[in-house]
Formats: sequence, structure tokens, C-alpha cells
Amino acid sequence: MIKYYDYRRRHPDARSDILQIMEHQVGRGEFILKDAVSTFERALADKVGARHAICVSSGTSAMTLGLIAAGIGPGDEVITPAFCYVAAASAIIQAGATPVFADVLPECFTLAPQSVARLITPRTRAVLVAHVFSGLANIAAIRAVLPARVLILEDSATAFGARYDNKPAGTLGDVGVYSFFPAKPLGGLGDGGAVITEDDEVARRVRMLRNHGQDGTRRFYHQMLGFNSRMDDLNAAWLSRQLCDNDRQLARKQAIALRYDAAVAPSAGFLTAQRRGTADFSPHAYVVRCRSRDRFVRHMNQANVQTKVHFGTLLPEQPAFQQWAGAKAAYAQARALAGECVAIPLCAGMDEHQVARVVDSVLEFAHESAL
Ligand SMILES: *Cc1c(COP(=O)(O)O)cnc(C)c1O
Repeated sequence: MIKYYDYRRRHPDARSDILQIMEHQVGRGEFILKDAVSTFERALADKVGARHAICVSSGTSAMTLGLIAAGIGPGDEVITPAFCYVAAASAIIQAGATPVFADVLPECFTLAPQSVARLITPRTRAVLVAHVFSGLANIAAIRAVLPARVLILEDSATAFGARYDNKPAGTLGDVGVYSFFPAKPLGGLGDGGAVITEDDEVARRVRMLRNHGQDGTRRFYHQMLGFNSRMDDLNAAWLSRQLCDNDRQLARKQAIALRYDAAVAPSAGFLTAQRRGTADFSPHAYVVRCRSRDRFVRHMNQANVQTKVHFGTLLPEQPAFQQWAGAKAAYAQARALAGECVAIPLCAGMDEHQVARVVDSVLEFAHESAL
């Protein structure tokens, strides 16, 4: 069986790495927001050329804190894609603001600038743009339709390592966010995330918000209402090691994605691969559109290859978001996509034999479909 995602293949040396990190941190008695966290924050900021990287307890939390720190709250509208992971919409509501669901582009699966333009009102304060799977949203095209007062928050949870015009994902908007969930491009030992910003005041506020509104100098004195959204030092120490290995993992995943392109592209017509919007892409998931998705999933299962359907239900059609659903016509492309997209295995630890087996199974399906 080829797993959709295989953690043990990604980290063959995890056991000895984790034992070393444990030994070090336990020896120092440092567990939360200590040296390992600030060391990782510095390395992360340097790696992406940002002024500030502030680590928190998850990508979702990074988005909530980033929104609040940027001054977004009750009465504000934030435009976000209808087809996406739950975190962006949830963070907008947790911050007290109102999500407005926009459509996505049919080939890139990311926010459609024209749909954003149609949803702008005097209350629009921000657009929460998400990069999705292996594709980068076109931030410049979205910026072009926005009034100057509207901020762009960039959900780069799955895009660490990607670049647009040589500028890293996460630094393309006003505030960026990474997730360190273990399957993400920069994968942690558990949950974790970071806020990326050039703005000293936003950074200062995120640092306080993550630790119950304390400013780091005066204990038990709370400058603002905050959260417990701190990062563990064990996780930070592991992430520092992962950061050093990231270029290698990225290159391996890109090579696999390009192999898939060569196999999938000639089968266009019933299978279309996601367009990525940049040559410097970070392949988090390899997703194709398939009209007969159920049949494709069955075929792959029989071939012992796991697949994954992300976001089969649009956010505005989830029970949790009903009251913010807006007009269904606003996200027609997103609805078609939710019925058709499916991901095949892609992970840095896959060997050539496994990649060839996935390709062969896709080609078998393409061949049967053509009959
Ligand atoms: C994983 C993910 C997140 C949230 O990250 P967590 O660390 O799991 O909270 C946000 N947005 C997208 C697109 C994601 O894939």
C-alpha cells in the first residue's frame, strides 16, 4: 500500500533526533518560549528575509492573532475563499470579524481577483488570501482590485518554500502565516505556527496576544486580553533542524511533482492538474480535477494507492458557517471544484519505485477512461 502521506518515510532518523532534543531541553529545563523558540524565530525570519517571525501554537492561531494584531475585529468584513481549509474562516470569526466568501480560479484553485472585486464594501478591512495545495494565489492581481486601506493577510500554511518573483510565500502580503502541522512543508513535532510581518507594532501585539497579553518584562501583568498560544521548545528545536533540511525536501518533492506533470498532462480532458502560478513552487499536495472522481478513487484503491479528497464541502455550506454563507452564486467555480478535486501521494520520502507505481496507476485509469 502506498500511503497518502508517510511520516516515517519523511523522517527516517526521527528517533535519534528527538532523543537528542529531549536530552538537551530536559537538561536545561526549558520547555515553553525559551531559547530554542527565539533561536528558531530568528532562523525562520532570516530564511524568508522577514523582519519578524513570531511562533505560536498553530497556523490557525497565527491567523487569529495576526488578524487581531492588525486591528481587525467586530464590524469588519474579511474576504476569503469559499474553497479552502477551515482555518481562515474560523480565524476571521474568532477575531470577531465577518467572513465574506469569494470564488476561486478553476485552474489554480486560489482566490479569483474578479470575485474579490465584486464583494468589496465600505466595511471591507482585509482579504485573507490562501495558497492552496501546490499553487500560489496571485497576490499582485488581488492587490490591484483593492482600495489602499484593505490589508492582505497571507495564509501560507502549506506554501513554505514557494517563491513568487523570487520573494518567499508568507512575505507577499501585509501579514503572513505558516503552519508547522507535521504534514506541512515545514513540519513540526506537533502543532505550531508563525506570524510573519515587517510591522513592529503588529509583531509586538502578536507577542503579547500569544502569552495572555503580557509584554515579556512584567509577569502577571496583562496589557491586553490575550490567549495561551505559545510554542514549545521541543518543537522549536525540531523545527530548527527541519529548516536546515528544507531545501533538500523541497527539491525532492518538486522532482516528484514534475514526474506527475509529465504523466498527467497528456491525459488532459478528464484529468487536469492544478496550475501552480509560479515555477518556484512548494508541492504540498498534488491535486487533479476529475469528473469521475469516485471511479478514480476506487481505481487507485484497487491499485493499493491512497488518495485524499480535500474540502469536499465548501466552507459556506458547512453547518458552522451557515449564517455567513452569502449568495451561492458568488462561488460557483468553487462548488464545481469541491466535487472534482482529488490528491495523489506526494511526500519527500517516496522512492522512485513508489513514484512509478503512482504514475502507472494514474495512466491505467486514463487508459480505461479513454476506452
Ligand atoms: C493546515 C492549514 C492551516 C492551519 O494550520 P494549523 O496549524 O493546522 O492550525 C491553515 N490553512 C491552510 C490552507 C492549511 O492547509
